[in-house]
Amino acid sequence: MSKQKYIFVTGGVVSGIGKGISAASIGRMLKDMGFSVFMQKFDPYLNIDPGTMSPYQHGEVFVTKDGGETDLDLGHYERFIDVELTKDSSITSGKIYDSVLTKERRGDFEGRTVQVIPHITDEIKEKVYKVKNISKADIVITEIGGTVGDIESQPFFEAIRQIHSENPEDVLFVHTTLVPTIPGSNELKTKPTQHSYKQLMNYGIQPDVIVLRADYPITESIRSKISLFCGVPKEGIVQSENCDLIYEVPLSLKKQNLDKYICKKLGLIPEIDESNKWADMVKKFKKADKTLNIAMVGKYMKLHDAYLSVSQALIDSGYNEGYKVHISYLDSEEITKDNYNEFLKDFDGYLVPGGFGERGIEGMILTSKYARENKKPYFGICLGMQVAVIEILRDECGIKDANSEEFDKNTQNPVIHIIDDYDKDDLGGTLRLGNYLCKLKNDSRVSKIYNKDEIIERHRHRYEVNNDYISKLNQAGVTISGIYEKENLAEIIELKDHPFFMACQFHPEFKSRPNNPGPLFSEFIKSCGLEKFEK
Ligand code: GLN
Repeated sequence: MSKQKYIFVTGGVVSGIGKGISAASIGRMLKDMGFSVFMQKFDPYLNIDPGTMSPYQHGEVFVTKDGGETDLDLGHYERFIDVELTKDSSITSGKIYDSVLTKERRGDFEGRTVQVIPHITDEIKEKVYKVKNISKADIVITEIGGTVGDIESQPFFEAIRQIHSENPEDVLFVHTTLVPTIPGSNELKTKPTQHSYKQLMNYGIQPDVIVLRADYPITESIRSKISLFCGVPKEGIVQSENCDLIYEVPLSLKKQNLDKYICKKLGLIPEIDESNKWADMVKKFKKADKTLNIAMVGKYMKLHDAYLSVSQALIDSGYNEGYKVHISYLDSEEITKDNYNEFLKDFDGYLVPGGFGERGIEGMILTSKYARENKKPYFGICLGMQVAVIEILRDECGIKDANSEEFDKNTQNPVIHIIDDYDKDDLGGTLRLGNYLCKLKNDSRVSKIYNKDEIIERHRHRYEVNNDYISKLNQAGVTISGIYEKENLAEIIELKDHPFFMACQFHPEFKSRPNNPGPLFSEFIKSCGLEKFEK
């Protein structure tokens, strides 16, 4: 292919209509035609990155291999296109302004007046071109967060308009909108889409593709109407259907010939069609019939998006093993010494995911205790490993006040402690983040699970297991089966004589893919299934 192409995905009418899934699905379709794809998201808010934002506000922080703390849509992108993205894939207005203002202070602008146009817009364009140049991908897909018309997103629209002017043959604009129905009637309404289109045109952007979300099938007459009002040929108007599985969306868009239309518009000539592999995966997923009930115990349980990648990794590995995974999101604050036996019974497996801060910790510790003592599968991720270590040292080794420095700075037994001299006043950027190498112990369960001697997984945490307590843990039957050799840090623990009691300091959910689930998730699910159905 001669030239690299750009696809910009924007949204209108309302937020939360699955723009990220539409963008990722377009990526998957293009990948299945043999093109290399890279993805990027612009978020118009002013935070520098989502790292310090509340999971309640923003959902999960997705961590990239290079340690970027990014928007959760990057998780969808990675799962759909199976490409490891980077910090450059997640850009906020805050990051753009920060970088322009740093340049201004440094004198880079040589005393000129610094303005939104051209300085902010140039910075935005530079981020798109950078990703294009570094990734060398045939197609870069960039999603603009928020909805058209938001004050803070205006510079992004201006920047992508300019990119189109600079590369008129190589840019495709996709606009996603909602086609609502009036309560009580099933009549689909196109007016919001028309307004959204007009708003986009105010910025000088004519969409090439309109992706519609609706509760009912988009009829031919609705399609014609939108085509007429928005100047988009009917072939360019598709519906992102409400599918049972999000992974069906690329197949649904392909069925509507969006793949052919995009190729025609961008002058792409596909050489292969590998979409059958994805279709086979979806078919297999739909056959899963047995149900596993997994308890996920944490503290941001009111918003399931806070654990999006963990949930998706559980669900995807479930499907791959023939199970439908039902996740109960349990608030650990509700779990107490008095009720935990009752509260936690009736689940097939327990997962304590990552988290920060003291709230709800005792409930997580009790979950680990319950699973350990009742020989029920337990999978701890990051904080889930730290609480397991605390629990075992307290209940099996008699260290009653074992704790993490995170929850009790003055504990006499800091079994989880801080190593680096982080600047504790600055919450942003003080964590062990991104890829680290983990050496697996010979003959350990985890080395068999991964079938490797070393693995690379992504991290996001501040505290570590205190090596002074390793011999005590060993005496209690715990094997440290993975370490980060360079600094001698415990990465994985596993318990002998237990169906599945494993925990890791890293976050395996970030590398889990629907067509290639994280090995620890698969093994956890297999153990849950084995315990439930074969015993
Ligand atoms: N709060 C713990 C730490 O900072 C765990 C972090 C996590 O679970 N991601 O080490």
